[in-house]
Amino acid sequence: MTSTAPSNARAHELADRFEATFGAAPHGVWAAPGRVNLIGEHTDYNEGFVLPFAIDNRARTAVRLRDDSTVRLLSTSGDQRLVEAATTALAPGTVTRWAKYPLGVVWALQQHGIEVPGFDLLLDSDVPLGAGLSSSHAIECAVATALNELTGAGLSAEEMVLLTQHAENAFVGAPTGIMDQSASLRGATGHAVFLDCRDQSVELVPFQTLEAGLVLLVIDTKVEHSHADGGYASRRAACELGAERMGVKALRDVAVADLQNASGLLDATTFRRVRHIVTENDRVLQTVDVLQTRGPAHIGPLLDASHASMRDDFEISCPELDLAVDTARIHGAIGARMTGGGFGGSAIALTPVQDEQQVRDAVTRAFADAGLTRPDIFTVTPSAGAARIP
Ligand code: ADP
Ligand code: MG
Repeated sequence: MTSTAPSNARAHELADRFEATFGAAPHGVWAAPGRVNLIGEHTDYNEGFVLPFAIDNRARTAVRLRDDSTVRLLSTSGDQRLVEAATTALAPGTVTRWAKYPLGVVWALQQHGIEVPGFDLLLDSDVPLGAGLSSSHAIECAVATALNELTGAGLSAEEMVLLTQHAENAFVGAPTGIMDQSASLRGATGHAVFLDCRDQSVELVPFQTLEAGLVLLVIDTKVEHSHADGGYASRRAACELGAERMGVKALRDVAVADLQNASGLLDATTFRRVRHIVTENDRVLQTVDVLQTRGPAHIGPLLDASHASMRDDFEISCPELDLAVDTARIHGAIGARMTGGGFGGSAIALTPVQDEQQVRDAVTRAFADAGLTRPDIFTVTPSAGAARIP
């Protein structure tokens, strides 16, 4: 496998650096990937379906257990100050900066009744921060996988998904679902993770881009809109109202055919919010079916329809995301959509290999012509989930 060699080299380098820093070799190196959501946006909290995949960018952690309760944390990039803490004094809301992710996992393990000794940890991540690729979950999943093994806790991937969610929700204080860590912990090379957010069941679906002559481009618009938080809360509220009016537990229980009746029960805006969720769930199921029967070259129209639905019905796109998507489509992408929570962040464009440069150039030019910040454009490959690196 071409992807394992360089990642092993990077892990060995990290082990050397750990030893130079902390004075002894680590007990191992564990890595966990970031993720991209292929399709299924805002469906997670409606107990619906999502289809993310683990990417080849990952957080690597070299870890050595200690004999005391001290934790020492260091990152090779970003904020490079050494953080020291005690496993015996962890409480939600008391930890700042990136230390809240690894220490949140320690705290969640303790809440689960697992004793965690002190440890030294060196982090090296190539998941870009804040680009919507879940760099924070990559850290949490790498740490959870490491400590799960080193403490002999023996938690399953499903249990670690809930554990890292608990860390995010209760310790870090972010009201996130289970999509990101499910992709990071349960992803597999050449596959997308078809996740049912109601019962947490997972099915791996073949998603081999290069083999189909395609690349998946991520276009990070670098836009972070200030109303993102309020927009998210109001979309959640609209979904809850829609479900209540329609007499269902969650919008997951509404079929596309039921939408006809819905228009009479809901105000115009709530109806459009509901229509996005209901059709998006259906598009996830269709995408899974197309990937299983015809392959990735045929999912383009579903990606396009997903974007239109988010732009027009859910109203969470922005001019920069629309520009990225439209330009990519015009210059060769077979399908494109915004990905993530919306109001900024990244778009994805599924593009034939031979058109990659053309799409990159066209998007870069379009942003320059519009006087916008230069976007970051890179490819991602469906890759393996979290694991120890031998
Ligand atoms: P996302 O998860 O979408 O990338 P978040 O805001 O949830 O964005 O997480 C980003 C945070 O994760 C950063 O502010 C930082 O605290 C932490 N982080 C990510 N990568 C690293 C790294 N390599 N070193 C230190 N901290 C990191
Ligand atoms: Mg995050």
